[in-house]
Amino acid sequence: MSDVGPGPSPIERLQAIVDQGLCIGCGLCQAVAGPAIISVGPSPSGYLEPMVVGELSHDTVDTIYDVCPGTRIDGLPPNLVGSDTILDPVWGPWRRMVLAWAADPEVRFEGSTGGVLTALAQYLLTSGRVEFIAHVTASSLEPTHGEPTVSETPAQVLAAAGSRYGPTAPLLNVAELLDRGRPFAFIAKPCDLAALRNWARHDDRVDELVRYWLTPVCGGFGPPAFTRGFLDRMGIDPATVTGFRYRGRGCPGPTRVEVGERVHEFHYLDYWGDDESQWSLPWRCRICPDGIGESADIAAADTWPGGSPDREAGVTDPGTNAVVARTVVGQELLEAAERDGAVIVERTIAPAELGDYQPHQVAKKYAVAPRFQGMGDMGRLVPVTHGLRIDELAARQPPAENERQRAGTRTRIIEGRT
Ligand SMILES: Cc1cc2nc3c(=O)[nH]c(=O)nc-3n(C[C@H](O)[C@H](O)[C@H](O)COP(=O)(O)OP(=O)(O)OC[C@H]3O[C@@H](n4cnc5c(N)ncnc54)[C@H](O)[C@@H]3O)c2cc1C
Ligand code: SF4
Ligand code: SF4
Repeated sequence: MSDVGPGPSPIERLQAIVDQGLCIGCGLCQAVAGPAIISVGPSPSGYLEPMVVGELSHDTVDTIYDVCPGTRIDGLPPNLVGSDTILDPVWGPWRRMVLAWAADPEVRFEGSTGGVLTALAQYLLTSGRVEFIAHVTASSLEPTHGEPTVSETPAQVLAAAGSRYGPTAPLLNVAELLDRGRPFAFIAKPCDLAALRNWARHDDRVDELVRYWLTPVCGGFGPPAFTRGFLDRMGIDPATVTGFRYRGRGCPGPTRVEVGERVHEFHYLDYWGDDESQWSLPWRCRICPDGIGESADIAAADTWPGGSPDREAGVTDPGTNAVVARTVVGQELLEAAERDGAVIVERTIAPAELGDYQPHQVAKKYAVAPRFQGMGDMGRLVPVTHGLRIDELAARQPPAENERQRAGTRTRIIEGRT
């Protein structure tokens, strides 16, 4: 496409991803264009968004549209789906599905749920399978946000345990990670994994160096205004916050806010609300075609029946992950970690049980295709997907329900709620 003449400019095309609520602030476009052209950072709304700071070409924007997880989301690369891998219509490819937790009680306690992702990452380092873990930790600049980090020791992995529900850009530093030329594991949200899998089509080093892909199952992150609203409700001035831990240290563990020396602790439900209708989510999360980490080797989830903890759960629940090994590599890792005492597996589960723990994921998976149709009706960008079965799932729904989702999406767009 010509960089001048009729039609939207490169900047307008990039901005359309943001303006239409499809950007999750992963940071990949900064790595694609280079920081001299695109800088991903906090916008006035508090979200992490790309800002054009140099000469942006249509060619670069074409590449961004091909790799951005707001515009393209694929399932597991077909070459990683084994001939004996089971394909569940909702839960996607899987080889082993278990309830498990970190064998080390400290890791289980510190972890978001049962510490399985942290335990696996530590095991990857101690067994010499990778040289470092690329994941995220609390932001050093904005306490409610996350930021990318590199862990080379089990202690560093543990220090980054826990879920960061604020804006986080795990791929900001991906060029530097690949330039190291060393094997590593990547832990990030399903959309971040989708972005890096997309980038693998442009940079051969991704498949060569990223040896393990791990993810938390993800229902969405907390919009900055929602987190500010939570702090306001709790009588805390957001500008005074010096530390913020969303969960972990029990399951879910307290939401912990530090204001200098003072520590305030709240329940997870004080942050998210007592039922799903109170969740506030970015638009991209509401139309997410893959919150279940289909492109991961291993996805780890919570196990609260009905999808939310009760108010009794807190530090007293030691935490149990549902763990889905999707690839041969993921299954081998889970079984080796179990054999070598890094992870304790309680029992095997099946997709129906996982659905009981994740009703919101099941509902969203069925609803995504008609929501995309509603976006298309309004002339919006519609993300391209492959291998996620969203049309197949919608076809199983009553037509009236699909029409309700489609019309509801149009209404949200008309009312500016995207
Ligand atoms: C935004 C978000 C939404 C979630 N929604 C759901 C849900 O709907 N259903 C459900 O079952 N579980 C959900 N979880 C996952 C759950 O909170 C646990 O993370 C998961 O069960 C793994 O637990 P663990 O104890 O093994 O993790 P830990 O051992 O604590 O490891 C967590 C790992 O994830 C990384 N990480 C944390 N936050 C982020 C982030 N924002 N971006 C990228 N990487 C991150 C950390 O660096 C760490 O390596 C969500 C997590 C997040 C971050
Ligand atoms: S690549 Fe990531 S940061 Fe850039 S526009 Fe897409 S989602 Fe946003
Ligand atoms: S719900 Fe989807 S888009 Fe939102 S943070 Fe999770 S994986 Fe990313």
